[in-house]
Amino acid sequence: MGRIAYVNGRFVPHAEAFVHIEDRGYQLADAVYEVWALFGGKLADAEGHFVRLERSLSELQIDMPMSRAALTTVLREAVRRNRVTEGLVYLQVSRGVAPRDHAFPNPPVRPAVVITVSRVDRAASEARAAKGVGVVTTLETRWGRCDIKTVGLLPNALAKQKARAAGAVEAWFVDELGLVTEGASSNAWIVDQDGVLRTRDTNANILRGVTRHTLIDVIREAGLKLEERPFTPDEARSAKEAFITGAGTIVLPVTSVDGKPVGEGGVGPIAAKLRRLYIERAKARAI
Ligand code: PLP
Repeated sequence: MGRIAYVNGRFVPHAEAFVHIEDRGYQLADAVYEVWALFGGKLADAEGHFVRLERSLSELQIDMPMSRAALTTVLREAVRRNRVTEGLVYLQVSRGVAPRDHAFPNPPVRPAVVITVSRVDRAASEARAAKGVGVVTTLETRWGRCDIKTVGLLPNALAKQKARAAGAVEAWFVDELGLVTEGASSNAWIVDQDGVLRTRDTNANILRGVTRHTLIDVIREAGLKLEERPFTPDEARSAKEAFITGAGTIVLPVTSVDGKPVGEGGVGPIAAKLRRLYIERAKARAI
């Protein structure tokens, strides 16, 4: 059976899933998105992703396209029709379709909704996590509202391509003070030389990662030390461990930054343990 997408109220074969050429998401990146991890066919960190979706939409003055309950039903139906148990659910909501004009359509139009479901090979992702990955650093060139999960992702795409060309998996943005902000599609962490877990605070211009938020609870419950304080690429290289978090990567150990090893250059025990604890918790609470 082929993949099925949801487009504006209809489930359609993936190959026949189209949006209008004047969709404001397509023309103006006037849209937001969310990504849920799926464990055993259930939505992980469901509440956190709904809260951020509602916040991103309200920051752009786009109405929720349907109630949270209705959206949950549609997301689950998309998962069911795709027969995916381990994977990712992608939701994009644009302001809608209107004749091209930078200003918002007046009167407002109906938001446009697209949902896709993709499969994740959990065995392959566990194998990758067991080895760790490289990241490269890149100058922070994104706009001043990275807290909104907008589809305006060109700087993120360019950064990710820089990583791929260097044989790394992620790129870390570095601000004008030389401090890492976050990854192109993940939050950035280290275990510093004192054994303290460090990640940048969310008052800064970064996305409030749902996985990051949940992992902070996991860290506190495990009795580990945490500081929401930024770090430089040099501090990452001289740290004991580094890792990234996101619905797609979960907790993924980082073994090199710009080609130079982090600590001893291998996967450390803390990242591996946090990955295991996060997955256990996510599975137990997925809806
Ligand atoms: N930061 C950026 C820029 C992202 O795009 C993402 C996820 O795509 C994250 C952080 C991690 O967010 P979450 O844990 O909610 O997936």
